[in-house]
Amino acid sequence: MSDYIQFIESNKDRFFTELVDFLKIPSVSSQSEHNPDTRKAATWLVKQLNDIGMPKVELYETAGHPVVYAEDLRAGADAKTVLIYGHYDVQPVDPVELWNSPPFEPVVNGGKIYARGSSDDKGQVFAHIKAVEAYQKTNGKLPVNIKFMIEGEEECGSNNLDVFIREHRDMLKCDTVMVSDTEWFAEGLPSICYSLRGLSYIEITVTGPNRDLHSGTYGGAVDNPLNVLCDIVSSLKDKYGRITIPGFYDDVKPLTSEEREGFAKLPFNYEEYTEELGVADGNGEFGFTTLERTWARPTLDLNGIYGGYTGEGAKTILPSKASAKISMRLVPYQNHEDITAKITKHLKAITPPTVKLDITPLHGGNPVMIELESEGLNAAKRAMNRAFGKDPIMMREGGSIPIVELFGSELNAPTILMGIGLPSDNIHSPNESFSIDNFYGGIKASAIFLEEFAK
Ligand SMILES: [Zn+2]
Repeated sequence: MSDYIQFIESNKDRFFTELVDFLKIPSVSSQSEHNPDTRKAATWLVKQLNDIGMPKVELYETAGHPVVYAEDLRAGADAKTVLIYGHYDVQPVDPVELWNSPPFEPVVNGGKIYARGSSDDKGQVFAHIKAVEAYQKTNGKLPVNIKFMIEGEEECGSNNLDVFIREHRDMLKCDTVMVSDTEWFAEGLPSICYSLRGLSYIEITVTGPNRDLHSGTYGGAVDNPLNVLCDIVSSLKDKYGRITIPGFYDDVKPLTSEEREGFAKLPFNYEEYTEELGVADGNGEFGFTTLERTWARPTLDLNGIYGGYTGEGAKTILPSKASAKISMRLVPYQNHEDITAKITKHLKAITPPTVKLDITPLHGGNPVMIELESEGLNAAKRAMNRAFGKDPIMMREGGSIPIVELFGSELNAPTILMGIGLPSDNIHSPNESFSIDNFYGGIKASAIFLEEFAK
């Protein structure tokens, strides 16, 4: 057994106690009443990183919550450099009455630790800190240069991280970015994620008459913006679930037969899936399986629609305006600005001249596709195998981590998504938890990764 594995084994209890301390800090970044707590989590990390012996540790102020940065470059200019990214902020806890124990008073039950942020992302990022400690203390030196960049705004959009990365491009220079903020396909199946979907999100408003009109006096003679909006939105997909915006699929690459076979082999239980959701059947783009639809095909969804009278009883009006929020999940190699431009052009073309259309882009992020044969990814696969006793599954993810795309474009470094969460962790929901075995296994995988990547 390597020395550092021995060190991890004999320091398990202390590592766990430290994690509990970290989890007790209610660093809810989106709620300003928690601003002092969010800062406290950052300063707690600064102390941790100093305690494990990182030669340089700094708290960088931003327009929002600070970024914690630390580096140990003593492996030397010829050694490789790993930038470890994570976040110390957490999601809000409501509805708090659905928690079985208070969200910031960690409780252990059935091999899991229950607390807000335990899996997303404090437990996952802390595993890397303990791995660096174990390696450093047993070998006196790290095999690669290490940089930590741990932000406090991931759960509210990473609004200031792009500026931080652009302003500190040289400081953040690295050969690979390690991110542990994803989950395994299932318990007992170590997984590495290689693709994330992107997002284009718009809000549209259709305006008709200059005021709400009496539906008896005017109905049938003037276009009703709500009816027009419904027509427009329902025309955006055909009966096969395909999106009708011209050029929408231009940059979508078909799945390879290897990928389709790989997805089909995963232990996905369709009956459990539909039953857990309380739906009679799934539905989506014709010709694709559920995993293909959520991982590798783009979507268009109405997220909200409003207008007209929605109070109690009847009120017979033609509303003056109606609005809808529409999101599109994008797949590699679509570009969110291109898709937003295409839907804007299409909506303008199909809106009748009897009404006025306004379009507001709300949010965008590009999809991510990770090179499957990079040195870093291969080292991560070997590390997962050595730590958990089996080769990791290569999976995709339907959601988005917009900042990952920036690592590629600004730092020109490939990202490794080596998560240690589980689907049952309830991230963003009541009773969030984190597997204690995955915490210890994750520390080992991270330390082994440093050794493997150095080779
Ligand atoms: Zn996260």
